[in-house]
Amino acid sequence: MSLSEKISTSIRMNVAKRKLESRKIDHRNGNPLEQWGVAKIKNEIKSSKELKQLFNPDELSREDIKKYKLLKFRELMEYVMENSNYYKDVFEKEGIDPSQINTYEDLAKIPLTNPEDLAAHPYHFLCIPRKKIVREFTSSGTTGIRKMIAYSQDEILEIVDAIISALKMLEMDSKDDTLHIMYPTITATWDPGVILGKACMLAGVKSVINDSESVEEQINTMIETGSTHIIGLSSFVHKLSMEAKDIDGIKDIGIRKIICSSEPLTEEMRADIESVWGCKALRQWGMTELGLANAIECSEQNGFHVDNPDFLIEIVDPITRELLPPGQEGELVVTTLRRNCMPLIRYSTRDFTSIVDEPCQCGALLDQRITDIKRIPK
Ligand SMILES: [Zn+2]
Repeated sequence: MSLSEKISTSIRMNVAKRKLESRKIDHRNGNPLEQWGVAKIKNEIKSSKELKQLFNPDELSREDIKKYKLLKFRELMEYVMENSNYYKDVFEKEGIDPSQINTYEDLAKIPLTNPEDLAAHPYHFLCIPRKKIVREFTSSGTTGIRKMIAYSQDEILEIVDAIISALKMLEMDSKDDTLHIMYPTITATWDPGVILGKACMLAGVKSVINDSESVEEQINTMIETGSTHIIGLSSFVHKLSMEAKDIDGIKDIGIRKIICSSEPLTEEMRADIESVWGCKALRQWGMTELGLANAIECSEQNGFHVDNPDFLIEIVDPITRELLPPGQEGELVVTTLRRNCMPLIRYSTRDFTSIVDEPCQCGALLDQRITDIKRIPK
């Protein structure tokens, strides 16, 4: 069975078992990505006696969500202390337990997990039996360190659910919309094009995967399929745009939004792309270790909306490792709050950004955002 068939089968099975939260989201009421995240948190509060005593699920504030995430963090600590050999050792050695984590400042008591740690002992991070893994892949990503990451079936579905919500935020939710996917095909490992294609299928949106490096072929495919949205590596989208700029009527082929992913996109590159196609170009950020679909800009282009229910984010000083307040730039540190296969606690991304802790003009009142991602100079 090919990778694509395996993913397709696992997704079909899961969809039969449970409904995707993202399918209930309506883009006419605020920001769909935020609505999806808040719905996930609300559902969890409603199903927990303990959480119901602490929060009113129908009146969640920014502070409530932060408090909720801290509780999830402590719950995750308990889980990894039971199930992960790596964290069991670290916590024992440092003499840390969940009762010591009561504020965000307390998080600094826990050492960061470095990409080198993950590369050196991948299976020490594993919390479930290996037979329950549906995808295992290696990644060198932006850090250049080769790491192994594994995902369970439920986690793949959660990632697809997050992607569908992001597609809705980009106004892709009708059968008249087509996403043109331009990632190079990666056959041996995790293929973002395949995952995106499946998310489109479940969202009821058409998708076309074209891995050709020929600009002419890419544009012909867009015209033939009636593509409305494009996603690809930032450098390739820019190259494509520069070569397409003299084509007559390029603005009229119907592209409504362009998503530039996996690589930094400067404001100059963004302006070039937008002037060619006559629509907005939006940045997306994700890491393979964290499931790729981690944060994306809305049309306001004022920070990346983070997948709020799934990640606890911190910004730390890259030298002193001290926690920095919103607005101040430092290293992005991420905890995967809902992963059960290989959860990561305080993962050092080696990316530089700051937290925007205020409502977005798009209507998202509770989402946390981060500013443009920069690589930490080596
Ligand atoms: Zn927004």
